[in-house]
Amino acid sequence: MHDFHYRGKKLLCEGVAVEALARRFGTPLYVYSQHTLTDHFQKLDRVMSPVEHLVCFSVKSNSNLSLLRVLARLGSGFDIVSGGELQRVLAAGGDPRRCIFAGVGKTEAEIEFALRQNVYSFNAESEAELQRINRVAARLKKTAPVAVRVNPNVAAHTHAKITTGTYENKFGIAFEQIEGIYARAARLKHLRLRGLQMHIGSQLTRVAPFERAVRKILPLVRRLAERYKLEFLSIGGGLGIVYEPALASGSPGWWKTAAARNILTPASYAARLLPRLQPLGLKIVLEPGRFISGNAGILVTRVEYVKRTGRKNFVIVDAAMNDLIRPAFYDAYHEIVPVARKTGASIKSDVVGPICESGDYFCKDRPLPGVGEGDYLALLSAGAYGFVMSSNYNTRPLAAEVLVNGRRAAVARVRQPAKEIWSGEKVVAWLK
Ligand SMILES: *Cc1c(COP(=O)(O)O)cnc(C)c1O
Repeated sequence: MHDFHYRGKKLLCEGVAVEALARRFGTPLYVYSQHTLTDHFQKLDRVMSPVEHLVCFSVKSNSNLSLLRVLARLGSGFDIVSGGELQRVLAAGGDPRRCIFAGVGKTEAEIEFALRQNVYSFNAESEAELQRINRVAARLKKTAPVAVRVNPNVAAHTHAKITTGTYENKFGIAFEQIEGIYARAARLKHLRLRGLQMHIGSQLTRVAPFERAVRKILPLVRRLAERYKLEFLSIGGGLGIVYEPALASGSPGWWKTAAARNILTPASYAARLLPRLQPLGLKIVLEPGRFISGNAGILVTRVEYVKRTGRKNFVIVDAAMNDLIRPAFYDAYHEIVPVARKTGASIKSDVVGPICESGDYFCKDRPLPGVGEGDYLALLSAGAYGFVMSSNYNTRPLAAEVLVNGRRAAVARVRQPAKEIWSGEKVVAWLK
């Protein structure tokens, strides 16, 4: 469910016409709905209410300060993967004591910073990392709260680049080795074993893999929780959203249709997992990113040219793979709709950007309404892993971001001035 819908011919974000935003702020433009963001956070937070829990929004999915502030005000915690993300959370007014610090490559400096900020837990991914955290904590005369990420070795059935819960990838520690690691970690004086963590992958649209992973680790969790007085179990993020048009179009029947097609909803997620989690008596941590931010954002782009070749109809737009890399990187599908609804026959089109790469496309051979120069298109469900993955490739400035709340809209990030792209560069002395 989201707050992007047509009224008459106009695409609206909540109460604001998207075309007016495109004219006022220029394109490419990310537009976020505060209501959608809030709604998705609360839906998940509410279904978990039978247990003590903490929803830690995955900052890497969308780290805009305004969005983080919205979530911080709702009481969200944050799942961070770098010192930079922790600084962002602080800048947005988030509570570091509700932050969990994940990632396989935490540096000494990052560990020290996070320790000084009193994060809730370090989610460690190797024994070497536990030793390093212990060493830094000893130096600071502190005790570091830690959890170890268990790799349950279950197939998540998602795209290869976003699966994390099998032994084929770099994440976590093998299920069979976990108890040995906890035993050794328990002897490290500056660690406090606070929890256990898992995260099996991203964009999972079924509950079954979560259920399988939870079922598999339950006996282990019980033993560890008792032995080390653990406080929490994090079951990670990875809850998928619907990108396909019939469902993503925001029709009121969305949740019903999703349920009928056996697609994960907050209700089905909770219904299948809570009965297994509740008896543990542990605090349950969730780390959703995409589920909260994904449907809350769109990328608006302007049609520059329409180029018909013998076989193809290319719609060349002013956004590119540097603004939204998901189609090129993950073969991802984003629904593309005109900002002013069109009548008339659709034409099989490739929507492509101006970057000099054949991978720079948003869709191929997709039936789309006929459009022409100056029309605006919106790529839906672009709120997660959209702007955050953008780059300056081809010396293209980073897009602007706008947050909408009801009838209000304001810039949440100014468009990057081109000059800023090379402002840190120097012509070296011997070339002057
Ligand atoms: C990326 C990540 C998440 C969030 O994943 P989503 O698919 O966006 O929910 C949660 N936990 C960890 C450890 C991650 O790396």
